[in-house]
Amino acid sequence: MAEAPQSESWVVEDIGEGARFSLLESELLQERQTAFQRLRLFANPTFGKVLMLDDIFQTSERDEGSYHEMLVHLPMLTLGAVRRVLIIGGGDGGTLRHVLLHPSVEAVTLVELDPEVIEFSREHLGALCGQAFEDPRVSVTIADGSRFVQETDERYDLILVDSTDPVGPGKVLFSAAFYADCKRCLAEGGAVVTQNAVPFSFPEALSEPVEALRQSFGDVAPYVTTVPLFAVGPMVFCWASNGTARQDADVETLHSRFAALDFEAYYYTPELHLAAFALPAYIARLI
Ligand code: SAM
Repeated sequence: MAEAPQSESWVVEDIGEGARFSLLESELLQERQTAFQRLRLFANPTFGKVLMLDDIFQTSERDEGSYHEMLVHLPMLTLGAVRRVLIIGGGDGGTLRHVLLHPSVEAVTLVELDPEVIEFSREHLGALCGQAFEDPRVSVTIADGSRFVQETDERYDLILVDSTDPVGPGKVLFSAAFYADCKRCLAEGGAVVTQNAVPFSFPEALSEPVEALRQSFGDVAPYVTTVPLFAVGPMVFCWASNGTARQDADVETLHSRFAALDFEAYYYTPELHLAAFALPAYIARLI
């Protein structure tokens, strides 16, 4: 007797009132409740492996470059010759892998709240983290990032806040107090870059942090990227610094710095880098 077709299994993310985004789950790879969040990793024919935390799509094998390249290479190429980097969150290792592509990097500290995210990324998300966690330049600290920046004596050229959205454990990473502590941990002319979700469905994830960043930084500039996994429009990152690197970075400088990386981008180009700060009107009105 022919087997009845398996009923299809779809994974759904609520993206606003009366709006959902769903992906076929062709194979469930990992599902567990960690001490901090619900973790799900599944395979999808279009996106490859997809990571979910607390029912929110985080990243996928296929489109991770549109997120990690713009979070990492935009500030790294703006500053040039970045030596010391702090990553808050980023347990999937994607951000870390991209930071390590820059030969100027001497030391990266990754501060992740949930060790189980790192553990399964090393096991199941090699396309994202590669061998990044094994790199001798890397040190991993399991802690709340907001506590780490309060207490550390280290100084960094660049701080990348690769967190979940401002709900649950990630909420503390969007406060004025956290940004003031980040400012204290930055070397002269350094920068912080935050991830600020998708303004179409979560506008306060940009408007409130921008106001908070402005309490500590003179140059606060959101910029956009388009991540296919994040439905309902572009997502935003926010650059914040008390230096002038962003104003000084022209397209020729960016091209020469980018050419020095042995790396074929999925998404980043120097032209797109500069254009990314041109915001759609509905996003510009939020800041
Ligand atoms: N949003 C990214 C993307 O779209 O590619 C992926 C983000 S990464 C998976 C988010 C990480 O932030 C998670 O591993 C989560 O455990 C971590 N996180 C959340 N709150 C944190 C906190 N307060 N301190 C440190 N890490 C935190």
